[in-house]
Amino acid sequence: MTAAYAPSRDLVSKVRRRLTQERLARPARLAFEQPILSVTFDDFPATAADVGARVLERHGARGTYYASAGMAHVSGPCGPGFAPADIVRLTNTGHEIGCHTSTHADCAQRDIFSNLDDLARNRDALLAMGARPPRTHAYPYGETTSELKDNLPARFLSARGILPGLNVGPTDLAQLRAYPLFGAGGLARVANALTTAAKRNAWVIGFTHDISDTPSPWGTSAADLEDLLRTARKLGFLVLPVTSALEKRIA
Ligand SMILES: [Zn+2]
Repeated sequence: MTAAYAPSRDLVSKVRRRLTQERLARPARLAFEQPILSVTFDDFPATAADVGARVLERHGARGTYYASAGMAHVSGPCGPGFAPADIVRLTNTGHEIGCHTSTHADCAQRDIFSNLDDLARNRDALLAMGARPPRTHAYPYGETTSELKDNLPARFLSARGILPGLNVGPTDLAQLRAYPLFGAGGLARVANALTTAAKRNAWVIGFTHDISDTPSPWGTSAADLEDLLRTARKLGFLVLPVTSALEKRIA
């Protein structure tokens, strides 16, 4: 996500977005033995790699970093971008590096060939930086199409969107639901989701960008991330990267 671009919010776009989410490309019925929280960082800013990782590790947890190779070393509204050294350190300490396209383009505005090419370029660039082949993808701005969902490379076990909801029962693995850990009421909403998810052994995915004491409008303070993790632990959640969480499914 960047401040420079925002997908259209007109009625036609909203309807298209809803229809795309509701048209399941990889239907699954998810069930887990206990509730799971995944904390994910998009793009990703350098502060997610240092402050964010430290907070997670203090709680014995690891996260998923959806990296756009083209954003390495690039400063944006969420602060300086990650460095290739971050990819190596995060990988070596058990965090997951996911794919977020190389160019961070709005996938709903491009043809399928450009999108698939972008995914392949990002994989190659991330591998060159020391990542393992990404097994999960997150759509920039949450934007996708049914065509892209249907043609998502098989190497991805999942793809994540940005529409909120619990991942349990009937689920689309090509567009997992996720809650923003920022914005007006965002943290209160995810706290409510944790309470509901604890009763249903559901999987909650949160997404954010930078982590700092003075976060951007798309970021989260370290204190709020700490609070979220404490709440999750109290409610009996496992806190796992996205692909590790998916591997815990019993159905
Ligand atoms: Zn993004």
